[in-house]
Amino acid sequence: MHAVNTIGTTILGYPRIGPARELKRALEAYWAGTGTEEELQTTARRLRAQTWTTLRDQGLDSIPSSTFSLYDQVLDTTALFGALPERFTRLGLSPLDTYFAAARGVPDAPALEMTKWFDTNYHYLVPKLGPDSRFALTGTAPIDEVREARALGIIPRPVLVGPVTFLLLAKATEPGFSPLELLDELLPAYAELLGKLAAEGVEWVQLDEPAFAADRTNQEFNALTRAYHWLAKEKHRPKLLVAGYFGSLGRALGILARSPIEAVAVDLVTDASFVDKVAAEGALRDKEVLAGVVDGRNVWRTDPGVALARAARLKATSAHVSVSTSCSLLHVPYDVEAETDLNPRLKNWLAFARQKVDEVVLLGRALHGENVDLSPARAAVADRASAAELNDADVRARVAALRPEDTVRTPYAERAAAQQKSLNLPPLPTTTIGSFPQTGEVRRARAAHRAGKLDDTAYRDAMRTEIERVVRLQENLGLDVLVHGEPERNDMVQYFAEQLTGFAATTLGWVQSYGSRCVRPPILFGDVSRPKPMTVEWAQYAQSRTDRPVKGMLTGPVTILAWSFVRDDQPLADTARQVALAVRDEVSDLEAAGIRIVQVDEPALRELLPLHTADREAYFDWAVPAFRLATSGVAETTQIHTHMCYSEFGDVLPAIDALDADVTSIEAARSKMEVLADLNEAGFARAVGPGVYDIHSPRVPDQTELTSLVRTALGAVPAERLWINPDCGLKTRGYAEVEPALRHLVGAARELRAEP
Ligand code: GLN
Ligand code: ZN
Repeated sequence: MHAVNTIGTTILGYPRIGPARELKRALEAYWAGTGTEEELQTTARRLRAQTWTTLRDQGLDSIPSSTFSLYDQVLDTTALFGALPERFTRLGLSPLDTYFAAARGVPDAPALEMTKWFDTNYHYLVPKLGPDSRFALTGTAPIDEVREARALGIIPRPVLVGPVTFLLLAKATEPGFSPLELLDELLPAYAELLGKLAAEGVEWVQLDEPAFAADRTNQEFNALTRAYHWLAKEKHRPKLLVAGYFGSLGRALGILARSPIEAVAVDLVTDASFVDKVAAEGALRDKEVLAGVVDGRNVWRTDPGVALARAARLKATSAHVSVSTSCSLLHVPYDVEAETDLNPRLKNWLAFARQKVDEVVLLGRALHGENVDLSPARAAVADRASAAELNDADVRARVAALRPEDTVRTPYAERAAAQQKSLNLPPLPTTTIGSFPQTGEVRRARAAHRAGKLDDTAYRDAMRTEIERVVRLQENLGLDVLVHGEPERNDMVQYFAEQLTGFAATTLGWVQSYGSRCVRPPILFGDVSRPKPMTVEWAQYAQSRTDRPVKGMLTGPVTILAWSFVRDDQPLADTARQVALAVRDEVSDLEAAGIRIVQVDEPALRELLPLHTADREAYFDWAVPAFRLATSGVAETTQIHTHMCYSEFGDVLPAIDALDADVTSIEAARSKMEVLADLNEAGFARAVGPGVYDIHSPRVPDQTELTSLVRTALGAVPAERLWINPDCGLKTRGYAEVEPALRHLVGAARELRAEP
């Protein structure tokens, strides 16, 4: 039982793509013109109704609304407050098509920039704001949703991106301007919405302020203070719940405590020590506290003992405590019961969104003294903790025997000379990032093989045919360092997870990455090892078809962890070392098979960067050695490449240098090579391949444009250290774009080589 007017047990958000990815299908049909707006909206309404009624039937006290989105919740907020850039609003499209134009771009108006949502693999669309930006409540979506829910007999709790986080996520349209300056402009629009929601009978509204899980300036803390004093002074408003998640709140905790809001949601999972801070000061004495004790981002069943102990600590010091998730469940799949192929014992250790809601309900009752049966949960957690098969003695012995010299290569300058002698590459060598377009034929062959309709030999032949074709193409184009093209890979993490011990794959475990795009992260549940080579036969075959060097292609340990659900029963550093050793074995086998260049991709290095700067050193302390462990077991003549697909390195720059890779390829085309200056400033003195061709766009750059980009790059990096390559892998593009683009790329390199 919960006291009248409290929120009670709840979750901060829920998946929305649909248990069978119904929203993805409806969106893609609408975009392709094969489905109508009405069909899309019907699917959307049905998914919302399904979610609300399920949550109610499972017994949550408070049901969130507006956790649904047709594309992204930040874009929803931008549109709701009439802050879409004019390039979209002047197109004269319907509201829905204007929204999708901002999300996906149209020929005359490139899409808004997209970037990762804090330290997750979810991407949001970055609002662009300037001194002239104005806000007005132009949308009705949250109100419409309340009416929809009310029709089902549910008074929901609308969830909105909080005003301060919204402005902190925005980028300025001009230098020297901080979107936070717009706070006073924005607050009246929020207040108007709150008033309208109150008029609809809404009792509580949740405002998400995850930006305060990162370090913030005084000015930003002041904005938080201002915002909630201002919003709370409205008379006709719902009660306000402010949610901080993805870590502890730091100084924002005190600010929220002193603000005249009614409730605060705290993440008690990410930082286990945060509960002490909340309890110690009695910080939230007068507020209802939502104790986020069920992990919203990982898939393990909650230990009821640990969760209840944390929540109970706050009971003594807060007005009312309810159980919740640590963050929105957007980041986990829908339902573990749908996984019919999972090992039953492993399955019993897992909780996806649906199971997490059950956990919240059960823990909430237990917290308030109801007699509930926690024994199945206790037994599952105990079973996992005692499962001997998770631990592989050989793997543990190998990790324990590691010495510091296992992560050290000969000095870069010596290596670089030895490699140049052995590889004999021209100045400004050209290469690609690994994947080539995945044709329908390739996808069909993979699917048929998986379904058992194509036997191993026929499958191998199909892949070899494709590899041969891609090798010939690269030779004809005149590229210097070739790749096999990755036709055998469904995904750059899943491909490896399927071949390593300690990982399990799901069949329906989709998680939204952005818009209609979903990923299916593998589950890393036990000790990791590599029973046999994973990529060697393909690389070796490619190398056998050409005299030019073929670059082997692997995913790095940090990225494998970042894009999996990782065991939480040992430090990430320990798991990283195991994965690194598996990759190291693969690197060695590639080398032994005659591959002289190996690329180990780490596009997620920045994603795992802790939000609090104080935690970053500890992160680099394991992440950098993990990469080095994976890549340092080779001769000095073997060249190690790495690849990162983002251009704003900021705080990871020193780490990139410390990775000690011989060649680093990075995204740079959109930023017009600006990143090179940052690299120089950070003292980076290794070879670098700034992407000159933006593969995220269907546009084919002409040779003049590429020559000019390379010339810009040459202003920052000497020719001996400069590589010419696209921004990222080519798998999402078509050959009609890729062939001319690569021809121009090679042409640009040749043109510049010929210059005196
Ligand atoms: N080698 C991978 C590819 O080319 C790299 C992909 C990535 O950086 N995300 O597809
Ligand atoms: Zn990339």
